[in-house]
Amino acid sequence: MSDALSKYGFETLQIHAGARPDAATGARQTPIYQSTAYVFQDSDHAAALFDLKEIGFIYSRLTNPTVAVLQERIATLEGGIGAICCSSGHAAQLLALFPLMTPGCNVVSSNRLYGGTVTQFNNTIKRFNWSSKLVDLDDECAVREAIDDNTRAIFCESISNPGGYVTDIPAVARIAEDAGLPLIVDNTAATAYLCQPISMGATLVVHSVTKYLTGNGTVMGGAVVDSGTFDWSASGKFPSLSEPESAYHGLKFHETFGPYAYTLHGVAVGMRDLGMTMNPQAAHYSLMGIETLSLRMERHVANALTISTWLEKRPEVAEVTFSGLPSSPYHERQKRVYPKGAGALFTIRLSGGYDACVKTVDNLQLFSHVANLGDARSLVIHPASTTHRQLTDEQKIAAGAGPDVLRLSIGIETAEDLIEDLRQALEAASA
Ligand SMILES: *Cc1c(COP(=O)(O)O)cnc(C)c1O
Repeated sequence: MSDALSKYGFETLQIHAGARPDAATGARQTPIYQSTAYVFQDSDHAAALFDLKEIGFIYSRLTNPTVAVLQERIATLEGGIGAICCSSGHAAQLLALFPLMTPGCNVVSSNRLYGGTVTQFNNTIKRFNWSSKLVDLDDECAVREAIDDNTRAIFCESISNPGGYVTDIPAVARIAEDAGLPLIVDNTAATAYLCQPISMGATLVVHSVTKYLTGNGTVMGGAVVDSGTFDWSASGKFPSLSEPESAYHGLKFHETFGPYAYTLHGVAVGMRDLGMTMNPQAAHYSLMGIETLSLRMERHVANALTISTWLEKRPEVAEVTFSGLPSSPYHERQKRVYPKGAGALFTIRLSGGYDACVKTVDNLQLFSHVANLGDARSLVIHPASTTHRQLTDEQKIAAGAGPDVLRLSIGIETAEDLIEDLRQALEAASA
């Protein structure tokens, strides 16, 4: 983030950070640079770019001017020094781990995670001979015990998906710091408006840009933000960053680029060789979305509180797990760590069990039954039969996605209309 921007507030930065009038045309809105390649000034310029002696645009698998604006904007909002955008939230998680892990290494992770992340961590990353250890982050002894010589990161979500749980990020950051490990926080469900993990001690932040950042259900995207604060050379555990990189004439990223080592490695090695590129159209939609992030998040939070309070009183509803409610065991933590609000993602448990859940979903009109969240529209899903289907029953319950659970992603429509929709669907399901 440039010094000129640091004096501005969040609402200003969400519109201006990273963007300048187009140098060629003066276009005020960031153009969609739909170009694969960029003309070199001369052969020396080309050579300097390829040797990372100069930073600039070469080929859009690595960097693209529209995507670069989005990267700077997200990094600024998160209080990081750099960001890499990529093709999806899941790509961002792999891209985040890639410089840290070698075969045989593990990541100690919260057991309260988005179902897709549990599957990625418990199954797919094993093909790289990486592994994860899912633990209850509220059990400090269990977290410290899970960390071993091969652990390379601690991973958690800020506000967790499917919902109801919020991570005590400062407490987890202390454990990571004691162990000399980077803390990676998936900040998808909170966004930088409700939570800035870097200010609480996180090293890296990952996002599914697909969700609230874009906010309108149009694109797939991901981001990895670096705080620039971690010493990658101190422990000898991160050779990709501290040791010579053979594909760049033996360049050592940390020694050469200092705090920018992780971000530059993410572009120069991660994007170059993994190729999980974000396209400029997606970056454009995401930039549009972020311009209104604070306004939308305020409304999401207010609607979620109104609706969860109403649901808690309904006879059909056995439980509402939303940390914004005083009845939540995480309410005090939410007020302390997430004072601007508890997000808009929560689950309800229906007394009528599996059947009542399915019937409620089928009777809702305004709520859309989709495998997505963080849209301006209100969304509903039955995780046990969809997003969390691949998990064992035990994992489903640990993730808060048992058979009697519905997940709601509250949108920014008129709260009374959403309540009326829920009322008629709950009544139809219990008739
Ligand atoms: C959706 C989601 C992801 C995955 O992001 P995609 O963009 O769908 O790949 C990761 N973490 C959380 C918390 C999510 O909600």
